[in-house]
Amino acid sequence: MKDLVRKNIAGITPYVAGKPIEETKRELGLKEVIKLASNENPLGPSPKAVEAIKKNLDKINRYPDANGFYLKKKLSRSFNLKPANILLGNGSDEIIDIIIKTFVEEDENIITADTTFLEYEIIARVNNRKVVTAPLKYFKYDLEAIRKKIDRKTKVIFIANPNNPTGTYITRQEVQDFLSDLPENILLVLDEAYETFIDVDDFPSSIGHIGRRNVIIMKTFSKVYGLAGLRIGYAIAKPELISAMEKARQPFNVNLLAQVAAVATLDDRKFLAKTRKVVLEGKNYLYDKLKKMGFAFVPSVANFILVDVGRDGVAVFKDLLKRGVIVRDMKQYGLKNFIRVTIGTKKENKKFIKALRKIS
Ligand SMILES: *Cc1c(COP(=O)(O)O)cnc(C)c1O
Repeated sequence: MKDLVRKNIAGITPYVAGKPIEETKRELGLKEVIKLASNENPLGPSPKAVEAIKKNLDKINRYPDANGFYLKKKLSRSFNLKPANILLGNGSDEIIDIIIKTFVEEDENIITADTTFLEYEIIARVNNRKVVTAPLKYFKYDLEAIRKKIDRKTKVIFIANPNNPTGTYITRQEVQDFLSDLPENILLVLDEAYETFIDVDDFPSSIGHIGRRNVIIMKTFSKVYGLAGLRIGYAIAKPELISAMEKARQPFNVNLLAQVAAVATLDDRKFLAKTRKVVLEGKNYLYDKLKKMGFAFVPSVANFILVDVGRDGVAVFKDLLKRGVIVRDMKQYGLKNFIRVTIGTKKENKKFIKALRKIS
């Protein structure tokens, strides 16, 4: 077997996804299990999305619209851009793959942080492309360290802003300064999966960069928009970059139900506002309880919190699991004594705190 598999694939440590609820119930014989592990929307999908899916169920014998006409139109209008500025993907995970396939030559590299979304590295390696990493500074992307890692072979720089799993962000000024020295032949990808939860004033308004610079912004329907299970995300960039990426994708990469659900969710302002409110209130509740219990954590602008549990995070993950709470241990990210907890509903947050108290 070993000789059959390409070396780059054989050397990859697979992505470990958040543990599913049903699997946990089955394995541990539990009736009630909550999942605070994958930064999903705790309120479910938008009722408007569910309605749109039901209405379109009898159309799934047809291929989806290969050009995502209605969704691109709606999205581009909301950013005051053109449909030619938008690329749709089967989740932003697929867009990472399309970016690497479109822009990174065989002998070129990508740069990202050493503690960030794992998919940049995994997807680059699946494509047999080199990955260069720069350390974080105080849990935050260190753009100076990234700048120093740039070499003649660097093609794409991936920045998760806010960063997952730390919840930190880089500011408007930092992005501007970084771009002002960035060579024209290097692409900057700003992955803004959590931008919809931002409650600070100095977060970059990155759309302003795409006209003039080689910047690609990635966004997703998996988090605040509540459609993680349907797999849909998108990229925003100037038309020259988008049309190149369009060539590297599969024609029917975004399924029919995902397209109609995304359009319907964009219309559901009430649902989005409610989600934001639940998450911001939940964050304050968790901060307060964690402080009182003496846990250190990294202040977050996203819908999750990185918590220093002061002992082996995998053991804490397992102890919480037995009490019906799924969080994420941070072993794969190299953060041994940490867990990452997604902010849930009021009830879920309470259950998490109660379980954490019992095992501490
Ligand atoms: C969750 C997440 C995504 C979303 O991925 P999808 O493939 O769209 O579900 C992208 N980037 C980061 C940093 C994330 O945490």
